[in-house]
Amino acid sequence: MIHSSLTQMGAALRAKKISSVELTQTYLERIAQLNPTLNAFITLRPETSLEQARAADERLAAGSAEALTGIPIAQKDIFCAQGWLTTCGSKMLHNFVSPYDAHVISQFNKAGAINLGKTNMDEFAMGSSNETSHYGPVKNPWDTARVPGGSSGGTAAAVAARLCAAATGTDTGGSIRQPAALCGISGLKPTYGVVSRYGMIAFASSLDQAGPMGRNAEDLALLLNTMAGFDERDSTSLQRDKEDYTRDLNKPLTGLRIGLPKEFFADGMGSDVAKAIDAAIGEYKKLGATVVDISLPNSKLSVPVYYVLAPAEASSNLSRFDGVRYGYRAPDYTDLADMYEKSRAQGFGAEVKRRIMIGTYVLSHGYYDAYYLQAQKIRRLIAQDFTEAYKQCDVIMGPTSPSTAFKLGEKGDDPVQMYLSDIYTIAVNLAGLPGMSIPCGFGANDMPVGLQIIGNYFDEARMLNVAHQFQQATDWHSRAPQL
Ligand code: GLN
Repeated sequence: MIHSSLTQMGAALRAKKISSVELTQTYLERIAQLNPTLNAFITLRPETSLEQARAADERLAAGSAEALTGIPIAQKDIFCAQGWLTTCGSKMLHNFVSPYDAHVISQFNKAGAINLGKTNMDEFAMGSSNETSHYGPVKNPWDTARVPGGSSGGTAAAVAARLCAAATGTDTGGSIRQPAALCGISGLKPTYGVVSRYGMIAFASSLDQAGPMGRNAEDLALLLNTMAGFDERDSTSLQRDKEDYTRDLNKPLTGLRIGLPKEFFADGMGSDVAKAIDAAIGEYKKLGATVVDISLPNSKLSVPVYYVLAPAEASSNLSRFDGVRYGYRAPDYTDLADMYEKSRAQGFGAEVKRRIMIGTYVLSHGYYDAYYLQAQKIRRLIAQDFTEAYKQCDVIMGPTSPSTAFKLGEKGDDPVQMYLSDIYTIAVNLAGLPGMSIPCGFGANDMPVGLQIIGNYFDEARMLNVAHQFQQATDWHSRAPQL
């Protein structure tokens, strides 16, 4: 059952072939066995999960089950969940038990899904390898000497290792897509504003977006049906009609125009990654798609622009963590200012401090125009490149990550090398577009390679169709690590 799709699991639950309690137990046992090695979870509350499973079984018996009722889902530890420790991977929140549910959490609760546990992540979602977590690095289940990617690395490892049926992630610059690629699973970052950010701990609010991570595109569609929708508690939540993201899964791809940005296929992509991507494009041609060469001329500026804007927003968002209201407070201090300083100095890790300093600098008087304002202007140009490109194609494809999973510790001393892990994903966040990653082969050291599919605004249903058709024709998504 742990290798089944969500549709198969849902059907088995409704047919009473298995109960939600049994399914939840199975995953909890697997977590107990494998999590000590993988470190994919920060918090588990087996009794709470099983209580939810008992309620789900009652609902299943009463015949009022929905698609996800009874299915164990892991939640990235960036989502506030009532009664659950919610750390965001930081010592700053090591003792924060949330008094309320994030919108995403309440949507899953309403659907009758089981909260299986909170997954490990880079501190405040800042990182590409899960090594900045206060709770220690996550290991890639395909090779435990390697990183799972980040910042949703705990989620990606948990899904790949079959420690949960599916899970949530968030993506500010690539944090759903890059770990999905490095762990050989599927992940989708929706159009900005499609999923409410209420109760999702803020990193860079104009870029942050939650999305589903799972084993295949069909699962992602079901998860997105639950996650998406208007929420008045998030001022950037978009008021749109409810969609069924499964509606186009089975459409043929004949006539699909795939844009290949020349900037993505230039120097920088590993030859092993290039080989798998080329093979995937070949598969799409067999499925009836045509290929168009496009250009995203400003995309080369996306990493520098992001590392001005994201730290700027983070420096403001993280000012709330001051040791006064909740979270970590330094044990010894002389006065209020000293308490602020020591709490923040001791509560935040090095990468978070680096971002706060950069962000404060680029927003300061005299530098604001030169850095922040300039970056905002280039952000607009990057978005316009996509608008131009979509006049010629329906979806854009390329690699998700320039390389397969690297070794733990390999990039720890070199933040710029780490930042370049997101070279293909960041422009999508700056433009507010939807992007996804699906497994498309294996590269160096037999590690998974991810194909990135970028859609136009609100084109999630089409992207899921494009991914699903590939997954009907290939079996990369059903490969699992030997554990
Ligand atoms: N790796 C990028 C960063 O460190 C993106 C992280 C994310 O998407 N949350 O900021």
